[in-house]
Amino acid sequence: MNTRDYQALDRAHHLHPFTDFKALGEEGSRIITRAEGVYIHDSEGHRILDAMAGLWCVNLGYGRQELVDAATAQLQQLPYYNNFFKTTHPPAVRLAAKLCDLAPAHINHVFFTGSGSEANDTMLRMVRRYWALKGQPQKQWIIARENGYHGSTLAGMSLGGMAPMHDQGGPPVPKIAHVRQPYWFGEGRFGEGGDQDPEAFGRACAEALEAQILELGEQNVAAFLAEPVQGAGGAIIPPASYWPAVKAVLAKYDILLVVDEVICGFGRLGEWFGSVHYDLKPDLMPIAKGLSSGYLPIGGVLVGDRVADTLIEEGGEFFHGFTYSGHPACAAVALKNLELMDAEDIVERVRDDLGPYLARRWAELADHPIVGEARSLGLMGALELIDPETGERFDKALGAGNLCRDICFELGLVMRSVGDTMIISPPLVITRGEIDELVTKARAALDATLADLRQPAAE
Ligand code: PMP
Repeated sequence: MNTRDYQALDRAHHLHPFTDFKALGEEGSRIITRAEGVYIHDSEGHRILDAMAGLWCVNLGYGRQELVDAATAQLQQLPYYNNFFKTTHPPAVRLAAKLCDLAPAHINHVFFTGSGSEANDTMLRMVRRYWALKGQPQKQWIIARENGYHGSTLAGMSLGGMAPMHDQGGPPVPKIAHVRQPYWFGEGRFGEGGDQDPEAFGRACAEALEAQILELGEQNVAAFLAEPVQGAGGAIIPPASYWPAVKAVLAKYDILLVVDEVICGFGRLGEWFGSVHYDLKPDLMPIAKGLSSGYLPIGGVLVGDRVADTLIEEGGEFFHGFTYSGHPACAAVALKNLELMDAEDIVERVRDDLGPYLARRWAELADHPIVGEARSLGLMGALELIDPETGERFDKALGAGNLCRDICFELGLVMRSVGDTMIISPPLVITRGEIDELVTKARAALDATLADLRQPAAE
């Protein structure tokens, strides 16, 4: 089959995630056929630097034979068995132990799921169950953040703060509130109230959390949920004042902290978990993606002692679980992935070498006329596009971000757009030379985007 054949079948039968089906049908999909290292290849023979690590997940890069071998061996030995009904199997047990070894000291248990969304569903049910067991069944409200992303299941969508998602498919899960996000560029520099000091803005966001807690009543609030750095929202790195101020607010009230590590976990920010970078000591951490470097689907919730001890000691049966909770082949691949990351010092390299190197090279793009801010932390970065004529954000209708993303693809670079924010999250095995290539291609794409936007609109 050639590209056209695949596109025709795709158009005829395949509904893609987060996609305008009609628009994609008119355009046709790009067919990705193979990959190695940080590069993907399409059916037309293009080799493209994948600066998104798939969907923020291929942390060890493509083509690691050790992961293939781990999957193969496990599929031969025991392709499937469940963890219900008083049974388990070696890969699930060994992965649980390894994860708890890597996690902060107060975290010693994990509940496995098939994805990050399921991890957040699990977390929500677990948090409410915890408070019920503590004799406070009214403590049900979860406070999350506007423009946060926590998945696409009903609970994941409800916990997320993406308004367009809430508007489709019926009402979200009740007793979830959203507070403002610490997105300084979008809401502190250009938002209502104008150009605010970033640190004051970060503190104001924490104050908004406190106001929300007081409005709902501390006695009704179960948990605060947030990503260390917002991923899908636009690689939003909070001002330095934000997390310490949030921690201070939470310390005043008896509310659990849930840190969604689905993207920031497993080395992305230069620590095994984003919450270690920010010293957050969360009660629960949903995980997925980089856990298996995306080779097979697996997620989970890391559960701190405070919650786990109560669930275990006072709990009785927790009526929750998935057929693929701790799937043997997925668990075996995840275990091997973590062992390789450990043995190859991947996390330390991100923290000490690649992260600082990317920060330096990425920051150079801030001098480009259509870049209003270039930020990065670890191996996650963003460029905010602005109109060079006005110094303001582009008119949304121009679709500058999507234009830049499409140009990137043509130039051999996967960079994603979130509105007019361009984001990257490359595999953690990227080399300095490949970072140079990434930055060079990004600059070329910015040039081409500017040239395109300057062309008078066709009559
Ligand atoms: N949480 C976060 C922070 C995510 O970025 C994502 C996925 N992008 C999810 C949860 C949901 O994970 P999944 O797509 O595996 O369900």
